[in-house]
Amino acid sequence: MDDRSPITSKSDFDAIVVGAGFAGMFMLHRLRQQGLKARVFERGSGVGGTWFWNRYPGARCDTESMEYSYQFDDALQQEWNWPERYSAQPEILKYANHVADRYDLRPDLQFNTKVLSATFDDTRHLWTIATDDGKAVTTRYFIMATGTLSVANKPKFAGLDGFKGRVFYTSDWPHEGVDFTGHRVALIGTGSSGIQSTPHIAAQATRLTVFQRTPNFSVPANNRGLSEEERNATKARYGELRNFTYQQPFATDFHMNDVPAMSVSAEERRRVYEERWNQHGGLHFMAAFNDLMFNSEANKTVAEFIVEKIHGVVKDPKKAEILAPKNGVVGCKRLCSDTGYFETFNRDNVDLVDVSKSPIEEITATGIRVDGVDYPVDDIVFATGFDAMTGAMLGVDIRGRNGESLRDKWAAGPRTYLGLQTVGFPNLFMVTGPGSPSVLSNMMVSIDQHVNLISDTIRHLESAGIVEIEPEAAAEDAWVNHVNEVADLTVYPSCNSWYLGSNVPGKTRVFMPYVGFNTYVAKCEEVVAKGYEGFVLVPSGKKETASV
Ligand code: NAP
Repeated sequence: MDDRSPITSKSDFDAIVVGAGFAGMFMLHRLRQQGLKARVFERGSGVGGTWFWNRYPGARCDTESMEYSYQFDDALQQEWNWPERYSAQPEILKYANHVADRYDLRPDLQFNTKVLSATFDDTRHLWTIATDDGKAVTTRYFIMATGTLSVANKPKFAGLDGFKGRVFYTSDWPHEGVDFTGHRVALIGTGSSGIQSTPHIAAQATRLTVFQRTPNFSVPANNRGLSEEERNATKARYGELRNFTYQQPFATDFHMNDVPAMSVSAEERRRVYEERWNQHGGLHFMAAFNDLMFNSEANKTVAEFIVEKIHGVVKDPKKAEILAPKNGVVGCKRLCSDTGYFETFNRDNVDLVDVSKSPIEEITATGIRVDGVDYPVDDIVFATGFDAMTGAMLGVDIRGRNGESLRDKWAAGPRTYLGLQTVGFPNLFMVTGPGSPSVLSNMMVSIDQHVNLISDTIRHLESAGIVEIEPEAAAEDAWVNHVNEVADLTVYPSCNSWYLGSNVPGKTRVFMPYVGFNTYVAKCEEVVAKGYEGFVLVPSGKKETASV
């Protein structure tokens, strides 16, 4: 219960937000601007969400900082100075804290509080939110701003409990940092987190052994410091840049070369790939041609190029063979962007173990056993990823109309309309939920769009005297189909990735994010312009509608 202000006659709060990452903070700011009484529950002891937890060495964002930042206040974007093209985790966390202070958000942020359950009351149109401090509050709007990659995937390795050394997860890194000096370290997992941390751990540890299940494509980040001149040039055209990114499929300026790869000669393709590799760097690489994510033949050309680069960098042919993806589809698993990852395997203190055919058998008291061979280590670092997109939503026991459980409803995969709401759970909003572009876009832009959409929707409900909003079943069914139809036009469904949930044992394989930020924005605008087409709006005083 709020101890700073009197309880309203209807509910303790107008809105409860879960998560104090970039989504939750901006959501709170918008709700307050509308004069609503809101509170944010956050399980961590500070703001920043993913940037609060993922403090592993080498953690940095692979979206350019001048774009991976808030755009809701020009004064904020003019005053903040990003030091690097791709800023590191400490700098991003500093920015999150700056925003919390600048907009005086902290009085309404309640840290160290985990939301356990949320239950909808049909008759009062209220949610009751129970937290792990034994308290419960009521709210009219319940907003999950829990992020897309916030619940760790922790594979159950036999023997892990008996390991005598230290165990770390990249997704929950000790705040005081870790000193690997003099230690033999095992790293399990070669996604973005493993690829970013490898060079840093290798530089400190006596020996680093990387256990790789699937080789990954990674391109050089070409990170560098930003000069004041460069920053000012971007600031001078910030409005234009932000408008432009809103119209892009990935909500970022990838400098798309709007030409199909197969329409040019092999020599021209190589020239463009070399230029992207050497000069642009980072995820811009996939904009070398406009069909790389849609045409398998085009994708093959870029895969061959990266494989050749890996063989060129890694001196030990055996290691190069293990590291180079075979028949891989670039971007199917999210493309990684690195600084010196493949080069690290040229160090004498770095080993590589292929666990694709013989999985990790067991973790012993003193190391890792694969195929009968023991690898003695002092520390194990798990970079094994996340229960993406649905993990945090389903981590809370959410009960909607008639006590329906969200866990049951989503057992065969998430079902939403626009990744914003789900049938049977009125007034529950998701920021960048499954079915929205989210992880297939610059998250900061997706957050901006979703928070504005949710706050505008709430403003509309308030002014029109609407007490409930939820999608129509037909709209949700059509949207779920549409998300999959669009994904099927791309190379995304052709491998096992966390986009499909296939990285988590037992999770249903369904493609979760929506491909195409710009088309998504247009769809949302159309829905709103047509009076929230596809949603059921229940006016005050009316009983439940039959159509829901
Ligand atoms: P991830 O991409 O899911 O990678 C997890 C790794 O662990 C994979 O290599 C996976 O192998 C391996 N793994 C999982 N279970 C295993 C097992 N039982 N035995 C052996 N290996 C196992 O996770 P992540 O690296 O944390 O990255 C997740 C996402 O977070 C990224 O794709 C990105 O969107 C985001 N991220 C972004 C940044 C950035 O902006 N710079 C940095 C870090 C993370 P398989 O491939 O065989 O499953």
